[in-house]
Amino acid sequence: WVSVDEWTFEQTHNRIAIPSKEVLAKAFKHQEESGLPDISVSPSQGKYIQLQAKITNAQHILEVGTLGGYSTIFLANASPTTRVTSIESLSLHVQVARENLEMAGLADRVEVIQGDAVAILPALLKDIENSQREKFDFVFIDADKLNNWVYFDHAANMTRPGACIIVDNVVRRGAIIDPKLIDTDETVIKIRELIERVGDDSRVDSTVLQMVGDKNYDGMLIAVVGR
Ligand code: SAM
Repeated sequence: WVSVDEWTFEQTHNRIAIPSKEVLAKAFKHQEESGLPDISVSPSQGKYIQLQAKITNAQHILEVGTLGGYSTIFLANASPTTRVTSIESLSLHVQVARENLEMAGLADRVEVIQGDAVAILPALLKDIENSQREKFDFVFIDADKLNNWVYFDHAANMTRPGACIIVDNVVRRGAIIDPKLIDTDETVIKIRELIERVGDDSRVDSTVLQMVGDKNYDGMLIAVVGR
C-alpha cells in the first residue's frame, strides 16, 4: 500500500486506457486558458462515466452542468452514434464547450443548451411527454449542488427503464457525515437530502460510490431506473 499523498494520479489511474487523450488535453487547456475553473471530472472519472454509458448502451444522454465540455467529450464518445444534450447556465462556459466539441469533432452529436437547468428540465420533460423528444437513457448531473434533487427528480421522469443516472460530488471529503456540518452547511444538507430521497425513491435502485481522486476524496451517486 502507498499513502494517497505518495500516489500521483498522473502516473496511475489517469494513464490507464484514456482514449482520445490528445483531444481531451486540448479541451482541458482551452478551458484553462479561457479562465474556466478547474472543476471538471478527472480523466479516470470521465472514463468511468463513459464506461457506465457504454454498459447502458446509451444513445441519448442528458448532462446537467457542461462547463467547457470536458466530461461531455467522454459521454459523447460512449459510442460513435451517441447523442448528448448538455445544459449550462454561463455563456462563457457554453462558448468554450461549443469550441471544444467542434475541435473534438462532436458538434453534430452534442446540443449545448444555455440556461438555468431548473427552468430547462421541465421544458425538456414537456417535450418528452408530447413525444417531441425521446427519453434519455443516461443522465450525468454535475451542476450546482443545491438543486441536485430537482435535477434527479426530473431525470427519473425523463429516462427509459434500465437507464442510469449519476450525480457527482456527493461525498465531499466525508463532509456529508461531519457532525459540525450536517445541520449547518447548506450543500451538505442538500446532498444528504438527495441521498435519502433517492434511497426512498421507488422509481430507482441506487448506491453511493466513494472515490479517491486526484482532486479530492469524493464520490458519485449511481441509480438505475426501474423496469
Ligand atoms: N461536467 C463538467 C465536467 O466534468 O467537465 C463540470 C461541470 S462544473 C462542476 C458545474 C457547471 O454547472 C458549471 O459550469 C456551472 O456554470 C454550471 N451550472 C451551475 N448551476 C447551473 C444551473 N442552475 N443550470 C445550468 N448550469 C449550471
